[in-house]
Amino acid sequence: SNNRTSILTVDHLSKSFGGVKAVNDLSFSVTQNNIHAIIGPNGAGKSTLFNLITGVISPNEGKIQLLDTDITSLRPDKIAQHGISRTFQNIRLFPDMTVFETVLIGTYLFTGGKLLPAVLRTKEFREKELQAKARIEEILQFVGLWEIRHEYAAKLSYGNQRRVEIARALATNPLLLLLDEPTAGMNQKETKELMQLFSQVNTQGITILIIAHDMHLVNTLSDQITVINFGEKLVEGPPELIQNHPAVMEAYMGR
Ligand code: ADP
Ligand code: MG
Repeated sequence: SNNRTSILTVDHLSKSFGGVKAVNDLSFSVTQNNIHAIIGPNGAGKSTLFNLITGVISPNEGKIQLLDTDITSLRPDKIAQHGISRTFQNIRLFPDMTVFETVLIGTYLFTGGKLLPAVLRTKEFREKELQAKARIEEILQFVGLWEIRHEYAAKLSYGNQRRVEIARALATNPLLLLLDEPTAGMNQKETKELMQLFSQVNTQGITILIIAHDMHLVNTLSDQITVINFGEKLVEGPPELIQNHPAVMEAYMGR
């Protein structure tokens, strides 16, 4: 990417749980339009970092900035409104909802849309709903779920459940998409297809911050990699630099 603007800046961020420093004085930034990977051993603090960025938890210290906006400790729905959306390490789907309903309802829940107008079906709500439905059709076509939009989301294959989550995250029109181990437990074919999808999402101008273990995926897909261990930044750089880096090898072997 030629655009060197930082879309996300994490500045001296720390979060402890009891005696455990899950995130420890962590600073890094994500360049706009990049695919930026976060890697590190289990328990390194990666999911905690995402919970801090999305406002699920508040840091003990430090600052998080989205473009020029300080989003530190804002409520999750406010952060979503500012343009950050995410998928979770463990897929979270509502039972008894179709693919289409999941994505539609998700956009209300995650951006703090009011449910009362939805229940009352006010005129304003119905107009917004029409726009939302058009957008969701576009997204479901894009992620390859349109044909099965009326199937129950929770009954789909693992790969397609991930697509539902990604569709739900895209439906809020994010600037920055956070993906927490999106290909964990997937077979090679599903992984390859999802990688293509991420690349297409990125081509549409959405910056991606991805937590992943699959080094092939990370090296193929990402522009920049931040390696964390014990909540701290170990090394950072493009894949060429991170591949076979002694400190990275040691962190993975040593735990
Ligand atoms: P990763 O995603 O890199 O595997 P996590 O961010 O899930 O790591 O966890 C980092 C550390 O913080 C771990 O030691 C974990 O047990 C701890 N931790 C994470 N969330 C909580 C929590 N809500 N309460 C207590 N400890 C937590
Ligand atoms: Mg995790």
